[in-house]
Amino acid sequence: MSKLSKKDVVKVLLDEDEIPRQWYNIIADMPNKPAPYYSPMTGKLLEPGEMQAIFPMELIQQEMTTERFVDIPREVREMYRQWRPSPLYRARGLEKKLDTPARIYYKYEGVNATGSHKLNTSIPQAYYNKTAGIKRLSTETGAGQWGSALSLACNHFGLDCTVYMVKVSYGQKPYRRSFMQTFGAKVIASPSNLTNSGRSILEKDPDCTGSLGIAISEAVEDAATHEDTNYSLGSVLNHVCMHQTVIGLEAKKQMEMIDEYPDVIFACCGGGSNFAGISFPFLMDKFKGTKVRAVAVEPAACPTLTKGVFAYDYGDTARVAPIAKMYTLGHDFVPASIHAGGLRYHGDSAIVSQLYHDGLIEAQAYGQKEVFESAVLFARTEGIVPAPESSHAICAAIKEALKVKEAGEEKVILFNLSGHGYFDFSAYDGYFSGLLEDVEYSEDAIKSSMANLPKIEA
Ligand SMILES: *Cc1c(COP(=O)(O)O)cnc(C)c1O
Repeated sequence: MSKLSKKDVVKVLLDEDEIPRQWYNIIADMPNKPAPYYSPMTGKLLEPGEMQAIFPMELIQQEMTTERFVDIPREVREMYRQWRPSPLYRARGLEKKLDTPARIYYKYEGVNATGSHKLNTSIPQAYYNKTAGIKRLSTETGAGQWGSALSLACNHFGLDCTVYMVKVSYGQKPYRRSFMQTFGAKVIASPSNLTNSGRSILEKDPDCTGSLGIAISEAVEDAATHEDTNYSLGSVLNHVCMHQTVIGLEAKKQMEMIDEYPDVIFACCGGGSNFAGISFPFLMDKFKGTKVRAVAVEPAACPTLTKGVFAYDYGDTARVAPIAKMYTLGHDFVPASIHAGGLRYHGDSAIVSQLYHDGLIEAQAYGQKEVFESAVLFARTEGIVPAPESSHAICAAIKEALKVKEAGEEKVILFNLSGHGYFDFSAYDGYFSGLLEDVEYSEDAIKSSMANLPKIEA
């Protein structure tokens, strides 16, 4: 590892053999562990056996393990090599435009075929299912990034793939659909009439535009009712957060190469996986006394951490997914169809929720208009069109950089650019034609869905 000078550096690259050999499991170091899952069927503690209907044993073990590090299989690392280690950039253009003394860095996870960080977990998930003898994976997708990532991984390991795509995105993002089909996936608009959960939603509301919660119900039902099929989730679960830590482990090495360490880290937060990925390896230092702030940034239209409650709730609308203790807006909360489709989940990772509850991380929420303003400013200064989801992190980083300027401080800001926005131009279109509206979450909708939280005595 050669030392570069932070004065001149624009892009910090690592060699291929510096791709992490292990994932970091933050649970080993958390002062308060995330609460265990409960069964939606029995209302009792979830037994590993119940999870076996939809997950392979290896992933169930990863979900439960308290080992600090878990080996990355050779076959997975081989595939990571296609685009990992990903670059760390210094945002020189943005810094100059903002005229800030802050040094801003971003880790860019859009440099793979699917354009987002989600491939970091779809590859190991497909791999462990393949080695367990599974023939098909079912899943849900919001904006299409997760479906794309799983399609590619399934294709690589020779598995079939069925993707339930939230109906509003299915209409807005035809190119995402084509992408998944290119890799051989079957894509279904959700709610569909192919599952019991889909049919019961459509009976009540034939025009339902769908939600991640509904699509999860359909995909879980598909897996649970087919012997050769498992379910795969692109965020939220402990093992998903762990797979994403390759982002932060690399970023730490990259910052070390230029003698830098972040004062504050930003990442957008839907289910929490890319936030986990960039921040957990730094929180490992924080547990030992190093000062670093980690901030999860969410949309004002789906403000799970900033406005939700910390309670046991179902992971999905039809109550088939495990019950987790997390920040939630209620499992039947259907957020407005904002353009950052990947951030429309009612809940959050149990780990991220526990860390937030314990005051170890922070959260902020922004409306989509200022988020798109930040996205365009970033594109014009850095030359990358960011995903609407990632632009929440950009928005927060810009605000921080301006605060630093006002205070006349020197600070190092790191954010995760979780993906590019080259499939999101219909959303950009909406912004440029002035059609984007700032949708606030509705207090009433949340209040009524809070009434339906499961009663867990723990
Ligand atoms: C899916 C997605 C997200 C949100 O998911 P997390 O699990 O919270 O990371 C953020 N950014 C991009 C580009 C995504 O595809």
